[in-house]
Amino acid sequence: MRDYMKFYIDGAWVDPAPGAGSADVINPATEEPAGRIAMGTAADVDAAVAAAKAAFTTFSRTSREDRIALLGAIMGEYQKRQDEMAAAITEEMGAPAWLSSSAQAALGMAHFNTAMEVLKGYNFHEERGTTAIVREPIGVCGFITPWNWPVNQMACKIAPALATGCTMVLKPSEIAPFSGYLLAEILHAAGVPKGVFNLVNGDGPTVGSAISKHPDVDMVSFTGSTRAGIAVARDAAPTVKRVHQELGGKSPNILLDDDGFADAVSRGVSGVMMNSGQSCNAPTRMFVPAARMDEAIGVARATAEGWAPGDPNGNAKMGPVVSETQFDKIQDLIQKGIDEGAELITGGVGRPDGLEKGYYVKPTIFANVNNEMAIAKEEIFGPVVSILGYDNLDQAIDEGNDTEYGLAAYVQGTDMEKVREVASKLRAGQVNINGADIDFMAPFGGYKMSGNGREWGDHAFGEFLETKAVLGYQPRQQAAA
Ligand code: NAD
Repeated sequence: MRDYMKFYIDGAWVDPAPGAGSADVINPATEEPAGRIAMGTAADVDAAVAAAKAAFTTFSRTSREDRIALLGAIMGEYQKRQDEMAAAITEEMGAPAWLSSSAQAALGMAHFNTAMEVLKGYNFHEERGTTAIVREPIGVCGFITPWNWPVNQMACKIAPALATGCTMVLKPSEIAPFSGYLLAEILHAAGVPKGVFNLVNGDGPTVGSAISKHPDVDMVSFTGSTRAGIAVARDAAPTVKRVHQELGGKSPNILLDDDGFADAVSRGVSGVMMNSGQSCNAPTRMFVPAARMDEAIGVARATAEGWAPGDPNGNAKMGPVVSETQFDKIQDLIQKGIDEGAELITGGVGRPDGLEKGYYVKPTIFANVNNEMAIAKEEIFGPVVSILGYDNLDQAIDEGNDTEYGLAAYVQGTDMEKVREVASKLRAGQVNINGADIDFMAPFGGYKMSGNGREWGDHAFGEFLETKAVLGYQPRQQAAA
């Protein structure tokens, strides 16, 4: 049992302010408590923000070289504890061991590395004629993060914030807080100066809201549901702070009538099943030529059945979903799909055979879905793929775009001219062609109700910088004699 009853404020582990409660953290594979955390209040946020504010003057003036060295030291400490980090993630949110180590924990490291590389060449100062344009750290940042890729989402905010000279207060998800504690220990061991990074745990409406409202927080960066993202923006409005939002998605995956179709179907299904469907950018709506629906069904069924859920600490490809709440929500949506007349190909409601304990969901495929059904509209956040047939590409593009979200989109085909045309017409912040590899320098973020702003790579730096124009920076040139 992990017992994390302190917060990390001003460089030390401190007791919460009076009035804080505690909450159990449930291991989704066992449904048993795996640990306990303190649940903070606005008073803890006040203390953390005061520390971050006090640290800002000095930290914002550190040299590029000092911050490059700091990010390097963090990577060194992170590496020492990467296996521990992977185990903590499996315990708190149920990702299978292979995924926790190869991706969940590894992504944290990758963001510190990316921020360090970007910092080496980033241009904070340019001169245009007699004017200088200077990019300066925005100040105290508030970070509110979810449970589905917990360390990835924390690191992709913390790393560029440190690189640009900002100070910060983090509230990780109360459902998956272990990785946040480990990260705080790593940052401490790496010598992050006191007050620069602070951690307070608690729930959204109490601690998250206190961060969003705080007059001394200069920007808030939020990742999570669209519902909570709207609450954050509302809370932030009276203090006119910058709000960065990474929210939900319902991403289309358009398969051309082309070679490589079977591989494309299989890749699309696996893209959803990975992490039990709990990825904001999962390709959950698969558009296939109507004439190839049967072929798609056969491949999708076989692929889904290869993603048998099981103990995440063993060799299972898929673990449980994170919580009872998510389990119930997914079951409801699967039932809705059946009720609305979608064709259930595999999976469905109920627990997988032999898995009576743990929040395990059957890998589920629906075919002949239409875009008006709940399973095509709502973010399910579970291992559920909807296959939709199209008669022509324009229809696939229109229906692909017919969603309130716009986080990611996917195109599969070998006719690159057509593929690029489809990519150009999709309204999403990131379009992935033919299963392209992850690119840490590529901006990540959403159109429409998927959010505002961009994370990752050099684009992330812009979120943490203010722009100052200094006129008359250079004396005007003397007129030629
Ligand atoms: P959530 O919105 O319930 O919680 C996310 C965080 O917000 C948690 O730390 C929570 O405590 C906090 N929170 C909740 N209500 C709040 C409020 N009123 N004020 C301030 N903070 C509040 O989301 P979740 O269930 O943890 O995560 C799943 C959601 O996150 C999905 O919708 C998913 O698509 C989205 N997500 C988006 C991205 C992205 O990059 N776009 C990445 C991962 C997850």
